Amino acid sequence: MSHILTHRNIITLYVVFLTTFCFSFCSARITPETSSTANATQTINLNNATWHNFARLVDVQVGSHVSGVSELKRYLHRFGYVTDDDDATNFSDVFDGHLESAISLYQQNLGLPITGRLDPTTVALMSSPRCGVSDTHMITTAAAHTTARYTYFGGKPKWNRDTLTYAFSETHKLDYMNSDDVKKVFRRAFGRWASVIPVSFEETDDYSTADLKIGFFAGDHGDGQPFDGVLGTLAHAFAPENGRLHLDAAETWVVDDDFKGRGGSTVAVDLESVATHEIGHLLGLGHSSEESAVMYPSVKPRTRKVDLTVDDVAGVLKLYGANPRLRLDSLTQSEDSLRNGGVSGRFLSGGFTGYVLLLVVLILFI
Ligand SMILES: [Zn+2]
Ligand SMILES: [Zn+2]
Repeated sequence: MSHILTHRNIITLYVVFLTTFCFSFCSARITPETSSTANATQTINLNNATWHNFARLVDVQVGSHVSGVSELKRYLHRFGYVTDDDDATNFSDVFDGHLESAISLYQQNLGLPITGRLDPTTVALMSSPRCGVSDTHMITTAAAHTTARYTYFGGKPKWNRDTLTYAFSETHKLDYMNSDDVKKVFRRAFGRWASVIPVSFEETDDYSTADLKIGFFAGDHGDGQPFDGVLGTLAHAFAPENGRLHLDAAETWVVDDDFKGRGGSTVAVDLESVATHEIGHLLGLGHSSEESAVMYPSVKPRTRKVDLTVDDVAGVLKLYGANPRLRLDSLTQSEDSLRNGGVSGRFLSGGFTGYVLLLVVLILFI
């Protein structure tokens, strides 16, 4: 009985303390791994990209008539902030009240101060590359309680089986990247999600019958959501049980955080970061307004963000329940397997604090 104060008991006591006295602690952010290039967006020359550059719209006032406002309205319409009742083909360059409301909603969903104004931060975010999935679901299904920032697609669709197969398109792939490298990246990305929910992913060569179909596509590729060239929208994936995950072939994708060589480009995008995000969509998660979350809509070039945060994990746990391996009595034993399985580095391999945060999530959200 010399082990009365076991690791498990310590964790339990710690969790009780946290949940009793520090309930709001669960909303704390876990700083995502990496960010040596976190400021790259500010210095990147977006003039090289085909994406919108709304810089000239900074501080434009309500009532103004400025060239480029119509493009901003189309952007906000594209991502769900202007209703379909409005004629997307006939937007004027007048900064009207509808646009002010749409900007406020955008700011709310992206976790910015809600001003309805085109301040520099808001305009910079609108000019940044992002996921092509609309934010409509953030508007209609935002979590009712205040700490969570995750959302789901309308109707909260999910997969109703515990093993999902995935395959890569043989025809829609990158000519400059080894397919084994792509597979390795996705294996790690799937592993992160599989380590927290009771769903496993199996790679198959049979693209036609796979549950999840992954490929690199360029421009208009037949699903009503054309890609737009360098930066802009980087990728999109569809809600369950569609299974399609498409990456923009025009991007300068890099693997293993390699921002030298080809990745030295100012528009390089880390494949694993985007893959992890899009897999969240495949599982049924919508966008999160928590900036550190993997499911945040905007993705910075030359930045790696692959760690699931408390918000990501809480959202997916509520949809699928927890992976039994992450129960209290299996945490210690599963540490190595979790790492091998590619669980988010900082979330779990952060050691004691990571475990405690995960336990708080388990207790509070399932
Ligand atoms: Zn997305
Ligand atoms: Zn597509």
